[in-house]
Amino acid sequence: MAKRVNLTENLINKIREKCGQDVNLSSMAYYQARGISTEPISQNSLYDKGTLTREALMDFVALINEPLNTVTIQTMHDTSVLPTGKVFYAELHDEPTGHSAVYTVFGVSTQHQDIIEKVDNGIIDEVSFGFTPKQILCSECNKDFLDEDVDIFDLWTGTCPECGAVMGKDGAHVIVPAIERVSELSLVTRGAAKHAKILDSIRQMAMSDKTSPVITLTKKGVKDDLLNLNLCSTISKEVDMNKEEIEAALSAATAPLKEEMEKMQSTLASLGEEKTALEAAKNEAEQAKGALEEEVASLSDEKTKLEADLEEAKAKAEEIKAAFDEQIQKVLVAAGLTDSIPEDVEGKKELLAKAHLTLANIPVDGVSSKADRIKETAEKADFSAYKVK
Ligand SMILES: [Zn+2]
Repeated sequence: MAKRVNLTENLINKIREKCGQDVNLSSMAYYQARGISTEPISQNSLYDKGTLTREALMDFVALINEPLNTVTIQTMHDTSVLPTGKVFYAELHDEPTGHSAVYTVFGVSTQHQDIIEKVDNGIIDEVSFGFTPKQILCSECNKDFLDEDVDIFDLWTGTCPECGAVMGKDGAHVIVPAIERVSELSLVTRGAAKHAKILDSIRQMAMSDKTSPVITLTKKGVKDDLLNLNLCSTISKEVDMNKEEIEAALSAATAPLKEEMEKMQSTLASLGEEKTALEAAKNEAEQAKGALEEEVASLSDEKTKLEADLEEAKAKAEEIKAAFDEQIQKVLVAAGLTDSIPEDVEGKKELLAKAHLTLANIPVDGVSSKADRIKETAEKADFSAYKVK
């Protein structure tokens, strides 16, 4: 009986608080266990490598010690059968390792001799609490897995919907800072909490003798079963959902995806419209470009024509100038002048005026002998316009 706890006056009071004044103290075998601690949890779930804060452990202690609160003793977290005993008292101990742990005293009914025998003989020596956290925070971003927007698949896969970290992987894990409810302490084959064991008398802690304060709790609804943490690695819990509930959960999980798909479809539709408008604009621009090219081509033709016209006009002007110069030359000859013909019109006018004056002195129907001498081959010109009548 090395594991049995000797009842102190204080413990007897705790048992009476929990079971009533008429409790038959000899109807139970009493044990002490080191329960949950601040050491990382080992469990293939959202809680893998998760930790509870010292404050969360203080919640454990307060909830267990609350006189009206019952924390039962179960086997393998099977709450579908009647309990085999009760937890009477808890204390928080800060251990030399730097970790803190909840130590409890519990009783197993003598009606369950098989269990008592296994506990006494160390065949059953691990314990595991069933509890509901108040918050389950992501160690990477502090997102609370209990938030409304966290869907069932995120909980199942332990994936943080905020930062994408997978709990239990690459250093990410949940942190439980506070506890809502402690429902039971199970005797298990292997617990998820480290060193959660029923203690031998030489390892039992001396529980303090002071009376624990009465804590008044607000009764809140029970949270989703999925979030109830049973710190037992061997427990596999079946999903207790009917068809409608599964469909509702699936539709809740897929609703954001559906919404996203609809958004994408409407974006695609508006992109299609935009594409059509852009194509129309492109066609319009191409037509305008074609028209401009035609215009450029016709302008180029016109320019060529104008250039040809200009050349023609220039040639004509040269021709006229040459003919004019020829006439001037004749006048000069007639007037007996040897002046060279200037290029500019003003000069020509002056020269003609000078020739005019000379011609005025030439007898009617005669030609200047001087001119004849200078240029005998000069053709006879009609000087009538220059003669004074
Ligand atoms: Zn996160």
